Amino acid sequence: MAFKLQDYRSEVNIDWCPGCGDFGILSALEMALNEMQIAPHNVVIFSGIGCSGKTPHFTSTYGIHTLHGRSLPYAIGAKLTNPNLEVIVVGGDGDGLGIGVGHMVNAGRRNLNITYIIYNNGVYGLTKGQASPTLKLGLKTKSLPQPNLNQSINPVVLAAVSGYTFIARSYAYDVKHLRDMIRRGVEHKGLAFIEVLQPCPTYNDINTKEWYEGHDRPVDKTGKPQQRLYKLDETGFDPVTHNEKELDQKLTQVVLKSSEWGDKIPIGIFYINENIPTYEERISQRIPNYKELPPAKQQIHLENGLPNIDLNKLLDELSTKLEK
Ligand code: SF4
Ligand code: MG
Repeated sequence: MAFKLQDYRSEVNIDWCPGCGDFGILSALEMALNEMQIAPHNVVIFSGIGCSGKTPHFTSTYGIHTLHGRSLPYAIGAKLTNPNLEVIVVGGDGDGLGIGVGHMVNAGRRNLNITYIIYNNGVYGLTKGQASPTLKLGLKTKSLPQPNLNQSINPVVLAAVSGYTFIARSYAYDVKHLRDMIRRGVEHKGLAFIEVLQPCPTYNDINTKEWYEGHDRPVDKTGKPQQRLYKLDETGFDPVTHNEKELDQKLTQVVLKSSEWGDKIPIGIFYINENIPTYEERISQRIPNYKELPPAKQQIHLENGLPNIDLNKLLDELSTKLEK
């Protein structure tokens, strides 16, 4: 059965503010899943708290709207239990890089085959626009009484040093580019991270759509605004780590390239490394039939509904091991 684009949309009324970049992200996500023809019932989208947290409500896939900053542990648990599921995690910059940053870093050590998308708008939109961990030092959005006192986190660099093996950045209003980045992330073997620059027209009046499109800059030779965003793949940038010897150089170029900000902001794939085993592969080395018989497929009860685990036998085994 072929799935149509509309098969990925739920009937829930979308209540993001008019013009919010989240609309572009939702569309790109649906387009990517549709292009790959992944059945909606085979996808689970996990979210935390924030405007982005509503995403699973608006799709027809399975979805879990979890706690603030805790979407990754839920997603990791689901993927380990049923590695055949397509697991996608979405969240805001406040959710993932503030309260949830410990989970973001530690997920990198495991390299599960899941995709994590951060909607980066520089503010906590759902709670009226406080400065988030990605707002640059000294910026004063209209929702702040005074300029931001904190340095900002670069999500791409954090993902790189944490061990994510696919790292990209895209832009919420460039839906085709974002669709391609999500597709590449989902198809990647290992943990994929995608930062999406997402204007929040309600609370961030600095990094707006017009700002990304360069309307405040002098026009170019053709009389058009000079876009701030440029595509890495059009500059000959090579994100692929072909072997272990290249690792230092590739990670260094991620730091340097992703730190460009201001008049020129790169989007595209910063880093790909498929030489590192996934967590599922590491588990399979210890439990050879893990992929064929993961926890989700194991029988846990008898026909009469009673548990099929004989606790006495288990306790006997344990006590024997202790005696040894
Ligand atoms: Fe979007 Fe900002 Fe409105 Fe939230 S507050 S829905 S991020 S525009
Ligand atoms: Mg935010």
